[in-house]
Amino acid sequence: MPKRPRCARCGRSASYTPSWAPKLSLCEEHFIEAFRKRVEKALDKGLRRVEIRRVLVGVSGGKDSVALLDVLAWYSSRRGFEVIGAYIDLGIPGYSKHSMRVAVDAFNTIGVDYVVVEAREVLGVDTRLAHEAFTERVVSRPTCSVCGMIKRRILETLAKNLGADAIATGHTFDDVFSFTLQNLASGYRETFAVVERGSGLMRLKPLLVVRESDTLAYVEARRLPFTETPCPYKPSRSVTAWYKYVGGLLGSLNPGLASSLAGIRYEARKAEVRGRCVYCGSVTAERVCSTCRTVSQILRWLVENQGYHSTAGERH
Ligand SMILES: [Zn+2]
Ligand SMILES: [Zn+2]
Repeated sequence: MPKRPRCARCGRSASYTPSWAPKLSLCEEHFIEAFRKRVEKALDKGLRRVEIRRVLVGVSGGKDSVALLDVLAWYSSRRGFEVIGAYIDLGIPGYSKHSMRVAVDAFNTIGVDYVVVEAREVLGVDTRLAHEAFTERVVSRPTCSVCGMIKRRILETLAKNLGADAIATGHTFDDVFSFTLQNLASGYRETFAVVERGSGLMRLKPLLVVRESDTLAYVEARRLPFTETPCPYKPSRSVTAWYKYVGGLLGSLNPGLASSLAGIRYEARKAEVRGRCVYCGSVTAERVCSTCRTVSQILRWLVENQGYHSTAGERH
């Protein structure tokens, strides 16, 4: 019989192997510790010269965002900043309400203050409407792209209203790698940083130093609630999913090559402001930013063809 692996720290039976150290076996307790230390080190480097008071964390209920919330809550107590969770209800049928329950469960289990907002209430538009508008050829942007815009815009608004100085998102190394592979094709070189600073809100991506296999192991080890229900609008065979798969393979075969290709940094400064959107004030090279343009296209279509009505009434 093959020998049962033992924890390299304490000798107890081990069932965890971190992606960043494929030869290391760890027990549950020491895997949690190793995961936290890895994220802590990255954040310490990224936040070296930064004063930080309040961080807003967008939580979808998936493993990455739940792991992010938990590890940030742990880290914040050592560094003395505040963490606020945010769940955005995107109005996706058979998905959003379920994810919301999971996210709220996670907020309560971890013990962080949180807000729940409906995209439609804040912006007048949600992902269900974006999907209808795309199906009806009102907008040319695919649903997932508009959904990303909606989430970003609402998180920025919330951060301003709540006096947060940073927004944290659960991008992992797998995401970076798939973006990098996609960018290679177009020759575009993007910088990925654990901490990105500029004149406005800071962006924190503490999970860039771990893989999705690690976040899954972490939420399981910590017994945290999370959902694996896929979004119904997510294409079953997307280019992104394919890149993620290839990136994952390459990352497993050669972690060193993968990370040097992806080029993750601990801190980066945002590009200088070229111009600002006349409507929302966000940075853009054009007069009106793409988010405002897309949202107004959908709103105009709603008013012209369906008459604008709040979804609040439909649910009762
Ligand atoms: Zn151990
Ligand atoms: Zn704008």
